[in-house]
Formats: sequence, structure tokens, C-alpha cells
Amino acid sequence: MKVTIDREECIECGTCYADCPEVFEENPDDFLSQITEEYRVDDDLAVGEVPEDLEDCVEDAAYGCPVEVIHAGE
Ligand code: SF4
Repeated sequence: MKVTIDREECIECGTCYADCPEVFEENPDDFLSQITEEYRVDDDLAVGEVPEDLEDCVEDAAYGCPVEVIHAGE
């Protein structure tokens, strides 16, 4: 499943890293959410491809994001 983050709209609340740390983490430089290196596509911090066993946690993170900037699916 594909997952994207509109990073420029992230408010650094940390919910996605708490809900799904396998896929989301805080960038150490700009403090915005990014996709973990393991699941990143083409070194794009905002785009990931996750296996089926992580789909639920990604969907939980997307649901929990207060500004709705995580998009999962496809
Ligand atoms: S839950 Fe949303 S606003 Fe919060 S850190 Fe993650 S992407 Fe940013």
C-alpha cells in the first residue's frame, strides 16, 4: 500500500510516530514527520510503500493525524 505525507502541513504533533513507529518518524532536521528509510520510495521523505502487515497501523496513523496530512491507500 502506498502512503504519502504532506510534510509541509505537518504540525509535529507526534501522533503518527506513536501509532506506527515502523513507518513514521520525526525528521531530525526539520522535525516534521517522514517515512522511515525502510519503507521510503526513491529516497522521498514523504512517500512510502508498506507491506500488508503494516496497513492497519498506517491507517490508524492517518486517522489519528489531527491535520489529516497522511494519505494511505491505492
Ligand atoms: S500525526 Fe500528522 S501532524 Fe502529527 S506528526 Fe504525524 S503527520 Fe505530523
